[in-house]
Amino acid sequence: MAATLDEITRRAEEDIAKADTPATLNSVASRYLGKKGLLTAERRNIGLLKPAQRPAAGARINQAWQQLQTTLDARKETLKAAAFERALNADLTDVTLPGRRQSAGSLHPITQTLRRIESIFVAAGYQVQTGPEIEDEYHNFTALNTPEHHPARAVHDTFYIQQEQDSTQPLLLRTHTSSVQVRTMEEHRPPLRIICPGKVYRADDPDATHTPMFHQVEGLVVDEGISMAHLKGTLLSFLKAFFGRPLQARFRPSYFPFTEPSAEVDMECVHCDAKGCRVCSQTGWVEVLGCGMVHPNVLEKSGVNPDIYDGFAFGFGVDRLCSLNHGIADSRYFFDNDLRFLQQFS
Ligand SMILES: [Zn+2]
Repeated sequence: MAATLDEITRRAEEDIAKADTPATLNSVASRYLGKKGLLTAERRNIGLLKPAQRPAAGARINQAWQQLQTTLDARKETLKAAAFERALNADLTDVTLPGRRQSAGSLHPITQTLRRIESIFVAAGYQVQTGPEIEDEYHNFTALNTPEHHPARAVHDTFYIQQEQDSTQPLLLRTHTSSVQVRTMEEHRPPLRIICPGKVYRADDPDATHTPMFHQVEGLVVDEGISMAHLKGTLLSFLKAFFGRPLQARFRPSYFPFTEPSAEVDMECVHCDAKGCRVCSQTGWVEVLGCGMVHPNVLEKSGVNPDIYDGFAFGFGVDRLCSLNHGIADSRYFFDNDLRFLQQFS
């Protein structure tokens, strides 16, 4: 029996050493120490021995049992450690590497400029009004005193929207946000002090200074006793607030159907301090906005009595102001979605 026990122990130790997964190790354990295990059978066989032999045989089997159990436990730990090591290697993380940054988006430079403009006017007591980008011909042209034959109404300047034959009046993509001024005057009584920011559309071929869609802010003040002096003071204050310093500006007489008198405003070139550069075509001046006193016909059409009230209006391109402020030579950059350009404003 001694030989058998030694043989069983030896084979068991070999099998344990060969077991390379917890499952194989379990089956080895039950093959020797389980209910029908080889060593279990040996233990059962003690009863067949003579009583005098039993204690010694029992002690040897117990010793062999304990030895196997210890070997099994040790092998189990080794397999566990190896599995852990494999898992670590599979999910190798070099904690010394710099972290990966999530790239966060930022506001488009036009949006930033729009918000800046709005905050300047809101601080001066203006309300921000918005209106539809698809506009009818009446609010875009007729109510703004633009004659039937005016070139601005022509198809090559304005995007008209195809409609059913029986439509009451043509629809178009608004060419300016002045239509919002009309809508505001129709709904609210003076005094009015509003700005209308938003997208506008003109059938221009894109080049460095034209894009078929761009952004405008138009302003309107209607009250008793409003004069050109109020207009001039307002615009000079705005330019100073926007560019962060007082700027020379000049008002040139101009013509718009919806204002009388009308003026275009040039300001000193912020890139060359009016010395002359490429941006200002060497003149030292850049054109920034159009303005004027609201034409009495426009007030009247919107239900405001021109005998009592006067108003001034102004409008400028947001893209243009943004370009001037940041020294951007081509307004098409705003719409190219090139991150190398946009990230400069984040
Ligand atoms: Zn210049």
